[in-house]
Amino acid sequence: MISSVRQACTEFLEVASGFYRVRQPAIRVLAARPLRVRDVGSIELFGDYDYETMLIRLWMRTAIRKQVTSFGTFLSTLCHEFCHHLDCQYFRFRQSWHTRGFYERTAVLYHHARGTPVKRLFWVEAPGGLWRIDWPRTNRGV
Ligand SMILES: [Zn+2]
Repeated sequence: MISSVRQACTEFLEVASGFYRVRQPAIRVLAARPLRVRDVGSIELFGDYDYETMLIRLWMRTAIRKQVTSFGTFLSTLCHEFCHHLDCQYFRFRQSWHTRGFYERTAVLYHHARGTPVKRLFWVEAPGGLWRIDWPRTNRGV
């Protein structure tokens, strides 16, 4: 199971890296989230990316409920981590932040990979000058 998932991820990364002409990141697919994960924020629930080693790690089970991550969540995590890679390798950013532009880029990549229409993302301002995606509204599309 894990090896076929890893194979699919590798093919995705081959195509995506070839398209952007960046070095292909390495991929590691794990059964469950590692116990010790450097906490980079609550977003990184299903994977992470190491800037120095260019390694994407994804895990197939959630830490809390031990549920198998859904296909959509898994693919969107792969796109998310690949976009961190692009920030560093393609845009040459010194840091890869979770900006609104970052989420717009991950959404475009995700929908392109699935062959589904890109949704307009709706944002709500959260305290501290932060923004989060308004998922109910984004899913409604209005
Ligand atoms: Zn991230």
